Amino acid sequence: MEVRRGIPVSPGVSIGPALVLDTESYRIPQRFIAPGSYPEEINRLHAALRGAVAESRDMQRVVTERVGEQYGAIFGAHALALDDAGLRQEIEAAIRDQSFSAEHAVSRVMRRRAKALESLNQPLLAGRVTDLFDLEKRILKHLLGERQEQVQHLSQPIILLAHDLTPSETAQLDREHVLAFATEAGGRASHTAIMAGVLQIPAVVGLGRFLTDVSGGDTVIVDGNKGALLINPDEETREEYERARRAFAGFEERLTELRDMPAVTKDGQRIQLLGNIEFDQEAEQCLERGADGVGLYRTEFLYLGKEKDPTEEDHFTAYMHVVERMAGRPVVIRTLDLGADKFSSVSDPRNEERNPFLGVRSIRLCLANSRLFKTQMRAILRASAHGDVRILFPMISTLDELRQSKFLLNEVMEDLDEQGIAFNRALPIGTMIEVPSAAVMADQLAKEVDFFSLGTNDLIQYTLAADRTNENVAGLYNAADPAVLRLIERVVQAAAEADVEVNVCGEMSGEPVYTMLLLGMGLRQLSATPHNVPEIKKLIRSVTLEEARQVARAVHNIETAREINNYLREQTRRVLPEVVG
Ligand code: PEP
Ligand code: MG
Repeated sequence: MEVRRGIPVSPGVSIGPALVLDTESYRIPQRFIAPGSYPEEINRLHAALRGAVAESRDMQRVVTERVGEQYGAIFGAHALALDDAGLRQEIEAAIRDQSFSAEHAVSRVMRRRAKALESLNQPLLAGRVTDLFDLEKRILKHLLGERQEQVQHLSQPIILLAHDLTPSETAQLDREHVLAFATEAGGRASHTAIMAGVLQIPAVVGLGRFLTDVSGGDTVIVDGNKGALLINPDEETREEYERARRAFAGFEERLTELRDMPAVTKDGQRIQLLGNIEFDQEAEQCLERGADGVGLYRTEFLYLGKEKDPTEEDHFTAYMHVVERMAGRPVVIRTLDLGADKFSSVSDPRNEERNPFLGVRSIRLCLANSRLFKTQMRAILRASAHGDVRILFPMISTLDELRQSKFLLNEVMEDLDEQGIAFNRALPIGTMIEVPSAAVMADQLAKEVDFFSLGTNDLIQYTLAADRTNENVAGLYNAADPAVLRLIERVVQAAAEADVEVNVCGEMSGEPVYTMLLLGMGLRQLSATPHNVPEIKKLIRSVTLEEARQVARAVHNIETAREINNYLREQTRRVLPEVVG
């Protein structure tokens, strides 16, 4: 049994057979054969090896003709490796002695070899590891025919293992069959992680290299509560996890009883607890989980799988769906936050940027493309005639950007007026505070908006210069870092002085360990992924404001993020042990 530690990004525990993506893209249908039936399996192996050798020779010929002999030789070497008696005998032994299916035996042997190469830790041999994966794929193709399964068209439950998944790949995962996923790359607040939460698929990311240790069909456990991946767990561990899985499901069930209860502290302070959504259909989940409204509607997901920019009607239809479902509750619609690790604008494909997180993303892209921006704002304004709609501008880093955005909004209002189209003239306008410059200048910004929304995901990344999607800096990327907390404090204070509402909509507000701290720092609005809402509500209902203030005061005197996190975990465990694990 191998145990790997990563970053838990979507809670829950799943046990099932692995589907290894990237290196495999083949689903191995069965791991074992009936004892004694190995001669037939060995014949299948021989046929597949012959096919793979012939294919490599063909590729050698084609590549030689196209680009030269030295490149064709790479595939000549593949053919020799596939024809190697040592390799063949090793796979045959795995079939005969361990009753492995030919596919599973191939996968095991190739990965064992890749791992041995990797353990030599010689950069020059790294390319050879990739070659081995290539050979594995080629043999599997000859064993399985063209049975290459798309992750979107699965017929059996699996646990998806990959180097990385993009947010759009994640968004399109088939929830019925993908029990969980685990990736080598990725960070806590990446949009892939956020999507996993939205889809309620248990997930662990940032595990570092593990794909060489696992073969398709191996049993794995993904523990999305603690951030662990267990490969080939023993019987005892499986049973333990089965029990944990049932306990977690029971806890979740008990939380649903809170749906109709208000998020109010033990001493009577009402907290507005809202939901973050990416798709209009998720308005339903906000209601099911007992949210007070939609605190963040990430509209860039309207681009998912689209070849054209959404039209005004596409925007309007989606917004109206949410507004109608929320029946008078607040709906904060954020204008397009395209770029970086999210989808790019179809109508304005920019040259690839060297550093997209610091490039023309989000409001910068909208201000550079006013047609795109105004189309969306028209739809938001039209929807505002039908409910409590509020508009939120993302990634504002200067006062000028805010003023330009408001100027364009005003122009859209005038157009609608001229055309006699109804909208709410007093539509509340907000700005995200997610760039350190905005946090520093919060007192100025507060004079020109009705509300702030603290985007801690980006605020942490830009404050600490730690990419939110990069597992190698995940240790630095920390909401409890004193620098981040000082910025939040500053924003809360500026908002209070200007009598401007302030909400926290980053992942921090969905993490129970931070709830007391945020309340103690003076926040009265939190917006979290719907599935986190019940847990946060339970916590709010379990503390007094005075306790929360004490926690915030204590944190003020702690020097490092690690110590603050330990302290917060202790305090949260004291109040509600179930949520800390
Ligand atoms: C944030 O940055 O905290 C935020 C809520 O926005 P997003 O995660 O969509 O970048
Ligand atoms: Mg952001």
